[in-house]
Amino acid sequence: MAYVISEDCVACGSCISVCPVDAISEGSIYKIDPSLCIDCGSCADACPTGVISQAQ
Ligand code: SF4
Repeated sequence: MAYVISEDCVACGSCISVCPVDAISEGSIYKIDPSLCIDCGSCADACPTGVISQAQ
């Protein structure tokens, strides 16, 4: 399991600095590497648009 960023990401960059394992990469839409994510939820808390959630 990992957190995922939806297509509604506005690429604001708020999540990158809070990730303890540097699992988030930049782009037109940001992405979380599921092999690195430790499911801490910090990025979801930091996201101002609420587009980060735990994968089903
Ligand atoms: Fe990084 Fe935690 Fe978000 Fe996973 S849940 S991408 S470890 S901040």
